[in-house]
Amino acid sequence: MELWTSGSSDKNKVMVEQLERYGIVQSKRVKEVMEAIDRALFVPAETRSPYYDSPMPIGYNATISAPHMHATCLELLEKNLQPGMRALDVGSGTGYLTACFAMMVGPQGCVVGVEHIPELVSFSIDNIKKSVAEPLLNGGSLSIHATDGRQGWPELAPYDAIHVGAAAPEIPQSLLDQLKPGGRMVIPVGTVFQELKVVDKNPDGSISVKDETSVRYVPLTSKAAQLNAY
Ligand code: SAH
Repeated sequence: MELWTSGSSDKNKVMVEQLERYGIVQSKRVKEVMEAIDRALFVPAETRSPYYDSPMPIGYNATISAPHMHATCLELLEKNLQPGMRALDVGSGTGYLTACFAMMVGPQGCVVGVEHIPELVSFSIDNIKKSVAEPLLNGGSLSIHATDGRQGWPELAPYDAIHVGAAAPEIPQSLLDQLKPGGRMVIPVGTVFQELKVVDKNPDGSISVKDETSVRYVPLTSKAAQLNAY
């Protein structure tokens, strides 16, 4: 674990400390992973304040989520990102959360990112290569694929944790199917008004859903609809 902190810059550390003061970062593991994965490596080079608590454009009508949203999702999924576990990141965008997940589940675990804009897939892989998560990419426990994330990634299902980084009109059945009993999915649902939903698959296979907070994400949609927006 000590090894991780080598990835952190001072400003990144200050950002994490602030999120901790606000009570958004609560667990030691989320703090450690956010300190280890420097956020500046995942935002486009021309972004002036990569640590500012706001979403930022990354091209293709997409954004990197705000640091407090990343922290919220990491906290909600922390118990489902234990070493050796399996996670799916839908709409992986910059690869920031995908890299955090991979660090948390470690080399014995498995993390898949799915993103439908091929240029963002390449961008995310380049970003991860600059970060402390690089060995996990090379070792094969972390991979990112260019595909429609609404179908999930059945090849490596079932997952302990599923994160969706774009708002779906409703919870996609294919993602529910790919959740392990005992697994948890965090997904923004809605169009104009969106709620971040926490979806737990109980050991008997039944589903419990609760609303965490109101959010504003880019839509989980087709590539054509996303690129033609505005
Ligand atoms: N967690 C990412 C969020 C990026 S924004 C980050 O913080 O960097 C949401 C992402 O979802 C965008 O990159 C967008 O291209 C992607 N997306 C939207 N609809 C999708 C779909 N149907 N399949 C895969 N990716 C999708």
